[in-house]
Amino acid sequence: MNQITTEFTAADQIDADIAHLRTAFASGKTRSLQWRKAQLKGIIRLIDEQEDAIIAAIQADLRKSRVEAFIAEIAAIKKEAQYALKNLKRWTSKKKVKTPMLAQPGKSWLQPEPLGVVLCITAWNFPWHQSLTPMVGAFAAGNCVLVKPSELCATSAALIAKLYPQYLDPDAVAIVQGGPEETQALLRNKFDHIIYTGGGTVARIVMTAAAQHLTPVTLELGGKSPAIVDKSADIKMTARRLVWGKFQCAGQICITADYVFVHKSKKAELIAALKQEIANGLGADPQQSNDYARIINARHHDRLTGLLSEGRIVHGGRHDKADLYIEPTIIEDAPEGGKLMSDEIFGPILPIVEWEKEEDIYAWMATRDKPLALYVFADDKGFQTRIVDRISAGNVAINDLMLFVVVPELPFGGVGASGMGSYTGTQGFCTFSHFKPVLKRGKRMDLDARYVPYNSKKEKI
Ligand code: NAD
Repeated sequence: MNQITTEFTAADQIDADIAHLRTAFASGKTRSLQWRKAQLKGIIRLIDEQEDAIIAAIQADLRKSRVEAFIAEIAAIKKEAQYALKNLKRWTSKKKVKTPMLAQPGKSWLQPEPLGVVLCITAWNFPWHQSLTPMVGAFAAGNCVLVKPSELCATSAALIAKLYPQYLDPDAVAIVQGGPEETQALLRNKFDHIIYTGGGTVARIVMTAAAQHLTPVTLELGGKSPAIVDKSADIKMTARRLVWGKFQCAGQICITADYVFVHKSKKAELIAALKQEIANGLGADPQQSNDYARIINARHHDRLTGLLSEGRIVHGGRHDKADLYIEPTIIEDAPEGGKLMSDEIFGPILPIVEWEKEEDIYAWMATRDKPLALYVFADDKGFQTRIVDRISAGNVAINDLMLFVVVPELPFGGVGASGMGSYTGTQGFCTFSHFKPVLKRGKRMDLDARYVPYNSKKEKI
């Protein structure tokens, strides 16, 4: 049995891993339905048998609560694999399309085929989800996968390297451990698809490298996702759901609300309700709560505490670097040009911004990058519709945060600066497949008209 190791993968091993995957793909073994099913069942078995070890690794990296880790990393992945197993036959079957007169007699269809070797580079906040969920789609489509987990979640990364080859075809999965250097060594190679989860700066490095090989990319990035709160919103429920979503994983979730954009008349009531919900859920001292995660490392702790001087803290603000702790914090009056309102926060700090006229919202959003998620809290259905219609975003939820991820037929992905391409559910299969168009001609009715020599009568066919 492989031992857990946090050693970074050597350059020659990276080359050998890629060559090994290429050989496996070329052998054709990944194409059979039986092989694909075995991988999906392997993912389910891995989740079932290793649940405690996976949760322990996540807790070692981030001190997430067991329930949070279970919902996002265990239950969600298992559901995804089960959904793929259920739909595999339908997904992989040829899809007939109409054949026009000109190509008659004939039959036409779209035939899904695997792309080849997929590179999956992940961030550190959901290392299992960000590797296994794309793998569900990639394996369902008949590909081999090379995973590069983030070096920042070292315990999970080491366990991933140990477990994946045990539960999945070791010829078709490889794990490269490492940071920027190893990732860039990987990127010098040709892959058939790259899926990258992380920040926009590294996404540019990934896309530049992919361009050298004309490799298609799926980029799962982040950004400043707003929660827009209308005067018609149910403020107590809004506060409850905002606190649930914003302070989970200490705010280190790409699709959480980055900031709240609330109607002026409801701001005071919302802040009071948010404070109450934080106290209800995490107590007077969240540092003592087992349900409150820690910041991933000292560098990010410094970055986040640096933001606390912007604006006015109306709740929280305490922090403890030795414990990588930052209290759930609410900030008012953050300056528009400052880092708090320009950069993605990715931590437990919630700025509150107010709006007065609905047009202010559209003007504000028009000057910003398209967010990964858009949240609208309102009882007024007209307001809900207008916000959803007029603001572009990767994914949208009305009167909740983040839960679109549990709907298998809502593909997950960004738009503009928050990413490109999407996966999960049927879209996961589609992302890692090429739908090869095939026309099969009959031999009858071989009309002369299409062949040279042409004449004016032939123009009329
Ligand atoms: P990151 O960009 O620092 O790192 C992501 C991956 O890139 C890691 O595997 C890392 O090893 C590698 N990497 C880092 N620097 C590199 C370099 N110079 N060259 C090559 N590779 C490099 O991102 P992160 O800090 O791990 O994650 C935070 C970001 O990810 C946030 O912006 C967040 O919104 C986003 N995110 C998006 C999703 C999503 O599904 N859309 C999910 C989680 C996180």
